[in-house]
Amino acid sequence: MARAHSTAGSSTDTGTISGSCSCFSGYDLDLDRAVELIKKSNARRVGLQAPEGLKRSMPALARQIEAQTGSEVIISGDPCFGACDVDMSLSHEVDLMLHLGHAELGEGPENVIFLEARMDADLTDVVKKAAQSLRVKRVGLTTTIQHVHKIDQAVQALREEGVEGVLGPAGGRIRHPGQVLGCSYRTARSLDVTEFIFIGTGQFHPLGIALATAKRVVTADPITGEVSEINTDALLRRRFAAIFRAQDAKRFAILASKKPGQRRMALAQRIKALGEARGLEMFLVYLDNVEPDRLLNLGAQAAVSTACPRVALDDAAKYKIPMLTAPEFEIMLGEREWERYEFDEME
Ligand code: SF4
Repeated sequence: MARAHSTAGSSTDTGTISGSCSCFSGYDLDLDRAVELIKKSNARRVGLQAPEGLKRSMPALARQIEAQTGSEVIISGDPCFGACDVDMSLSHEVDLMLHLGHAELGEGPENVIFLEARMDADLTDVVKKAAQSLRVKRVGLTTTIQHVHKIDQAVQALREEGVEGVLGPAGGRIRHPGQVLGCSYRTARSLDVTEFIFIGTGQFHPLGIALATAKRVVTADPITGEVSEINTDALLRRRFAAIFRAQDAKRFAILASKKPGQRRMALAQRIKALGEARGLEMFLVYLDNVEPDRLLNLGAQAAVSTACPRVALDDAAKYKIPMLTAPEFEIMLGEREWERYEFDEME
């Protein structure tokens, strides 16, 4: 299954709304703005879409919106993995749709409003702790959408430790300076630094930064308070093993996503042509959620995913056949050197 870049948690609370602060499962959402926009647009029907970590709060939110605006609210029951994953079908059913928890990617239907989810966690202590692990006095600062509104707090904390924290600019699918997505590390790549601090939870984003920049990455988790250094060896070993296994395959499925922010059909077609030129049987598969069951009856011996990079890099263990990214397929064919291993990114 395609994984979310979102780190929205799985708390069981159902949300509280008071004044301008609307708190859901530990995240603040700017609901006053949403209510204002719903009223202004005279929307009679409103869609709500959220990642799993925020879903439990959706019934309370729906009730609140219905009470404040008089509109009818429909909650999207399908999985939601990121801003790339707008429920297109629901967006056609409603006048206005609220997509919660992710920053807009700059594409998608006009009647969708993105409401970012912000965590209230303080960054000062954990960033100061991370500063103790640095080897240099100038460092790139990166984080996910949940903490990006507090990045200035991190810059200040570093300054107090005698370290300069710098942010790469927004651009492409990245909305905020210093923000990273599981599929885009352009803010990190744009910086001329030798080390990074990643503020957030989980290993996928800091691994992505390390592979995209080939620089040292220290992680600072504001939830647990833990600091650690990223090591890419285990991931690279797994990816090398997947490429090695795929070399025996003669029949490849090339997965092309239906999700509006994961569509890379031109890339899928290029990969198909590349494989066919080497005498491989290549077929395109167009699908929404990438899941092991969807591939079972197609008879592919290996797959190349052009959907969310996490499908191949984070979820590979779920699949019986080797699952490669497009740059990995090029390595398998000898079109690209292993030494030039490239993290699969979307601009
Ligand atoms: S494609 Fe990017 S934005 Fe979408 S789920 Fe994957 S990492 Fe997140």
